[in-house]
Amino acid sequence: MRVLLTGGAGYIGAHVAVALLARGHDVVILDNFSNSKRAVLERIERIAGRAMPSYAVDLVDLSATADVFEREAIDGVVHLAGLKAVGESVEQPFRYYRNNLIGTLHLLEAMQRFGVSVLVFSSSATVYGDVSAPPFTETMPTAPTNPYGRTKRMIEQMLEDIAESRADVSFIALRYFNPVGAHESGLIGEDPAGAPNNLMPYVAQVAVGRRERLYIFGDDYPTPDGTGVRDYIHVMDLAEGHVRALEFAAERRGYDVFNLGTGRGASVLEVVRTFEAVSGREIPYVFAPRRPGDVAVSYADPSKAERLLGWRATRDLAAMCRDAWRFQVRHPYGIDVGTAAKGERS
Ligand code: NAD
Ligand code: UDP
Repeated sequence: MRVLLTGGAGYIGAHVAVALLARGHDVVILDNFSNSKRAVLERIERIAGRAMPSYAVDLVDLSATADVFEREAIDGVVHLAGLKAVGESVEQPFRYYRNNLIGTLHLLEAMQRFGVSVLVFSSSATVYGDVSAPPFTETMPTAPTNPYGRTKRMIEQMLEDIAESRADVSFIALRYFNPVGAHESGLIGEDPAGAPNNLMPYVAQVAVGRRERLYIFGDDYPTPDGTGVRDYIHVMDLAEGHVRALEFAAERRGYDVFNLGTGRGASVLEVVRTFEAVSGREIPYVFAPRRPGDVAVSYADPSKAERLLGWRATRDLAAMCRDAWRFQVRHPYGIDVGTAAKGERS
């Protein structure tokens, strides 16, 4: 298939591109580079050993989006483009609704205009909120607790409604749990701008000496060691799940939703200990108050993806930490940033 990856220069998109290319699909990348670097494109090509077209386009611009479909014979879309910071979405809801919802509507409009009927969408485990107890299954009620999560749930509903009204489309939403790690080449990985919001890149930056200590948000959760528990999934397992979902979507019609997780939870302290073991570095940490909006425990029931997609995560927490560490060591201050940027140590 010739697959359009929106947000394909981002953290997960770059790994999905590598997985699709490895499987023999063609890839076309569309990204506005609002949260990614152009240098990533050349790295994807280096890993895959072949070139791919890319377009610096914002999905909010409908005519530029349609133009990509005009130029490229697209068979299917993996839609990863979106803003993703929970706290920022609370402060700037308009920006999140505009970017994520209008961007998706324009993409769907362009797909319809050019007869492209297969789409895989990046949703999130955050749609489950805190109304049900884990393990989360796809049939549980959803209750996102912030504007970011609501954009994800609204897009799922849009896809479901459109698939209900048209016999020709095939849409799949993938609810990611906690993607971490990097491609084993160390060439691509999670490269956040500014201070990381997420645990694994923060731990990696402490380990490499870019930040002094980790702040662990909460030590009094009802978990075995008091710290929050999440279902961390290696980004290459996640990427391979997209390949399976896309191939599954191409053979059927309608709407469906799948969790992508391991089914196993790990606490913050377990992540810290594992990272220390694989990196040989100490991770200084202090306990800090709980982060508003955090749930105590989140992990997937991944059995639906195993049953219908024939997909299962195979890489363990040590592999996730090892690969995250390899990428961090190669790029202590991020891709394209020299070590001169040391001033930001905090
Ligand atoms: P990312 O920010 O690294 O990648 C998103 C990419 O989309 C970026 O390259 C950005 O420049 C691009 N983009 C954003 N808005 C755009 C627009 N309007 N037009 C064109 N490009 C645009 O994030 P990621 O971690 O790779 O996440 C990819 C997707 O997966 C997002 O939709 C995110 O919400 C979802 N997701 C991520 C996680 C996670 O923990 N990383 C968890 C669940 C879901
Ligand atoms: N966390 C933490 N310190 C940090 C970042 C995260 O203690 O600097 C904790 C957070 O409270 C949660 C877990 O690590 O229990 C995973 O958080 P992350 O932001 O990576 O994922 P999410 O909250 O989206 O599940």
